[in-house]
Amino acid sequence: MTCSACEKELSFNEIGLNKKFNGNSAPLCMRCLAEKLGVTTARLEEKIAEYRAAGCTMFVAGSRSE
Ligand SMILES: [Zn+2]
Repeated sequence: MTCSACEKELSFNEIGLNKKFNGNSAPLCMRCLAEKLGVTTARLEEKIAEYRAAGCTMFVAGSRSE
C-alpha cells in the first residue's frame, strides 16, 4: 500500500493510523496524514504509542515510520 499523495510505501503503523484517523479515505503516509489532520508527525507518533500501550494490534514497536 502506498500514500495516495506522495506515493511513499506505507509502514505497518501508518496503515494503522489510516484505519484510526482516515476512515475509508485514500491512504496517506504519516507526513501527509499529519498535514491533512493539521497536527505534527510527533503527535501521530504519540498516538501510536498510546494505542500500543492500550494493546491495539494495529501498531507495532520499532517500526520505521519514515
Ligand atoms: Zn505521503
